[in-house]
Parts: sequence; structure tokens; C-alpha cells
Amino acid sequence: MTPASSSGANPQRVMRGDASDQLQQMLNTANFLNQFRAQMQAGGDRDQEHFLDDLVAQIMEESQGDVKGPPPASERFISLLPRIKSTQLKEDEACIICKDNLTESASATKMPCGHYFDRDCLVPWLKLHNTCPLCRHQVETEQQVKEEEEEEARDMMYG
Ligand SMILES: [Zn+2]
Ligand SMILES: [Zn+2]
Repeated sequence: MTPASSSGANPQRVMRGDASDQLQQMLNTANFLNQFRAQMQAGGDRDQEHFLDDLVAQIMEESQGDVKGPPPASERFISLLPRIKSTQLKEDEACIICKDNLTESASATKMPCGHYFDRDCLVPWLKLHNTCPLCRHQVETEQQVKEEEEEEARDMMYG
């Protein structure tokens, strides 16, 4: 075993496994959010603009490897996102990501913290981070699911 020399190491070389897929996904999400920004420029909503600026900046930093953000949410969490009926929503409940009224959304969903989003807006974010885009409430990660499964397997063997 030779210890990796830090001099002249190419940072792109140290990416492991599916890192380039993740990078691609981040850039897709950044593009996706930038499209929203372009769409709403006419509307000029300052809160949303700040929110999206934050999000895009974070994604871009992460894609350059400067910042290690929270890990992606687990597939299980994403697949179990509840379907929220329009009758369960306040009349003016809007998705913070696209600002559309959620009572007209075909795919409204709710995070455990109680914030509502369109599923289509929320899922690309959860595939990058296990946090609520609005309040950063943390949800289950793939790592947690794996640990849980390992624990169950151990119980089966020794319990
Ligand atoms: Zn939305
Ligand atoms: Zn939240």
C-alpha cells in the first residue's frame, strides 16, 4: 500500500464510484431551478428569488466539491411520500419551489416537518439531500436504511 501523495493530486481523480452520476444529477437540478428562475423573473417575487439563489449556489458549490452537503434522502423515503388531496390543503397553499398553487397540483405531497410541495419539484431535491428545502428538517438517508436492514439481519441470525 502506497500512501496517496497530496502533491499534484488531481481532484477529479479522487471521485469515487458513482460520483460523476451525482455530479450530473446536481447539474440537472441546478438547470431545472434556473429554469424556474427564468420563468419567474417577470413576477419578481423576492422571497422565491432568494430561496432559489441559495439552492443554486449550494448545488454549484457542491458540484465543484467545495462543500459537502447533506446526503441524499433514501429511496424508501421518496417512495413513501404521501399523496395529499387538495381538500387537505389550505386554499392558498403554494409550492415554494415553483410557486404554483398546490390545490391545483396533481401530485402534492408533504414532508414530515409539515411543509407541502409538488412531488415533481421535491423529488429532484431529495435525490441530492435528505433535507426539507424550506426548513432543512432532516429525513431518512440510504445509510440509515442500510443500517436498519443490517440490524434486522443480525436479529434474524441471533435473535
Ligand atoms: Zn412546485
Ligand atoms: Zn420543512
